[in-house]
Amino acid sequence: MRSRARVAWPLEQLEQDLGTHSGCEVVVSGNLLWEPPVAARSPIMEPLTEAQRKTLEDLYRRIDERVSPITAAHAWWPCRKGCDHCCRHLAAPLPVTRLEWTYLWEGFQALPPEARAEVRARVAGLKGTQRPYTCPFLDRESGGCRVYAHRPMACRTYGFYVSRDQGNWCHFIRELLEKHGDGDILWGNQEAMEDTLARLSGDTLSILDWFDAAPTEAC
Ligand code: SF4
Ligand code: SF4
Repeated sequence: MRSRARVAWPLEQLEQDLGTHSGCEVVVSGNLLWEPPVAARSPIMEPLTEAQRKTLEDLYRRIDERVSPITAAHAWWPCRKGCDHCCRHLAAPLPVTRLEWTYLWEGFQALPPEARAEVRARVAGLKGTQRPYTCPFLDRESGGCRVYAHRPMACRTYGFYVSRDQGNWCHFIRELLEKHGDGDILWGNQEAMEDTLARLSGDTLSILDWFDAAPTEAC
């Protein structure tokens, strides 16, 4: 079985073995506190071209094709609707590429006005706070993701992908793997996905910065 101490961008979890559930905190690596490039703060958001949409959706479909057999073949697999621990324990606001953000923005814009207002309020409320962060897209009552169909790659691969020999998953999965083993599981390659997305996408900013750069009048 693979041991997991550290995994790479964008959702990175450090099991810090503190002897508490804080070990399930999801740590986002990378330069989250950087000053975004001026261009990235432009309020102008170009919609996705059809080619970009197809490319991104194909990438997400590839992840789904990797993930689905794992959950289908293992009834004990804990990543199910309603398990929102990782969404509630982000070590930093999600970093997403421009391409992912534009897609995510579409999902956000499709929400009812009251839900958009709540997400906006949660985004504002995250500024100046400390980890762990709860994702502003989480519906805290249902435990569901409000932008599930538009969620970024990190949320799709988390729990199912590895970087070199390090798994990208929470303590729930680690403990279950210790019990059941992982011999028949075909893990996804996190770095390959990240490289592909980086080649496609341009800037990467935290969702707080993307919200800052996004138009407000539509909401
Ligand atoms: S990664 Fe962990 S916390 Fe997140 S859905 Fe899967 S089991 Fe639940
Ligand atoms: S975007 Fe959705 S799946 Fe991803 S962390 Fe936020 S609530 Fe969870």
